[in-house]
Amino acid sequence: MKFKPANNIQDLQYFGEFGGVNPSISDSSTYTFLSAKTMFDTFEGNTDGCYLYSRHSSPSNLYLGEALAAMEGTETANVAGSGMGAITPTILQICGNGDHIVSSRTIYGGTYAFLKNFTPRMGIETTFVDITKLDVVEAAITKKTKMIYCESVSNPLLEVADIKALAALAKKHHLKLVVDNTFSPLSISPAQLGADVVLHSLTKFINGSSDTMGGVVCSTSEFVNSQKSVIDGSSMLLGASMDSLRSASILKNMRTLHIRMKQHSKNAAFLASKFEADGLKTVYPGLESHPSHEIFKSMMNEEYGFGGMLTIDAGSLEKANALMELMQESNLGYLAVSLGFYKTLFSAPGTSTSSEIPLEEQKEMGLTDGLIRFSIGLDDDIERTYKMMNACMKQVGVL
Ligand code: PLP
Repeated sequence: MKFKPANNIQDLQYFGEFGGVNPSISDSSTYTFLSAKTMFDTFEGNTDGCYLYSRHSSPSNLYLGEALAAMEGTETANVAGSGMGAITPTILQICGNGDHIVSSRTIYGGTYAFLKNFTPRMGIETTFVDITKLDVVEAAITKKTKMIYCESVSNPLLEVADIKALAALAKKHHLKLVVDNTFSPLSISPAQLGADVVLHSLTKFINGSSDTMGGVVCSTSEFVNSQKSVIDGSSMLLGASMDSLRSASILKNMRTLHIRMKQHSKNAAFLASKFEADGLKTVYPGLESHPSHEIFKSMMNEEYGFGGMLTIDAGSLEKANALMELMQESNLGYLAVSLGFYKTLFSAPGTSTSSEIPLEEQKEMGLTDGLIRFSIGLDDDIERTYKMMNACMKQVGVL
């Protein structure tokens, strides 16, 4: 049967303790027990339905986690205080001293910096590869490799990972396939394609209002519980927990995610085809010119489209900056990092979100100075937006 992520979310019903249509917020960091024995058993992880301490879990965090697990079709999920708060403990739960990771070289700059600069201090080495070349990925696997790491749609180059093929490789070599699905919620369901762990920064499309940070790890109960272990669990011990007030607000925003993703995708597809027709170097997975267009198509849950992210090459950093400043002045969007807002956001990744990547490596992976990354907003009249953007491009000499 076709996987229906939005139906899975919609079918989850939670009521507040006084019949509220939203679940009550658990406004507590700690929980009482009627007996000392139950407290002991809860520490040991043996009591269902009892809460211990909110860094471990809280009712509000569990509600949001269940909704995200339903979206990805995994057994369970654990929310975190940020995307990095989900990514870093996942890497550290799977890998330790002497282990090796094969990672896509085009990933979010923070994750890249963690793998390149931070985990070597713990004896974990990473080989960065072009994730679209399966033979190169396989050749990089060694006896020490524990994980293949990638983003479904990569930040910022929008390369698309062939998750089914990578999952088969991971299985063959007994590795875990960990996929960051931040750019393509609902559109791609990595766990359904064989990924072992699916990560998100909730800060982006899933929350959608650029008012909070958040992250999630979606996986098997065995893996998620291992991260929550009070003895040696990376999430529990590193402590990047989400606050219950925030998980309650993210859950409410998730109720409209399917509507927003359709509109983000519709608007981005319209602008991408117009920009390309104008002769701009445009990258969008929905364009036939995208090298992985067919792979995305073969993986996608069609109704949500190819996502809200696109890039253009403005030719130079100066032109890119001039265009972004003019578009902001014209109220077409904001010159800001991040993504998934109602308003279009744009930035030049080479000098912002990917600046952790050394210049020569940026060049090698095709991250040019003039690259502008757009997170396309929810504009009702996208034709008007296009006309205004086109005028800005002409004014600064991008067209
Ligand atoms: N993953 C991707 C693809 C991202 O773009 C980002 C942030 O930009 C992150 C993870 C990190 O998430 P957060 O900023 O919520 O820690």
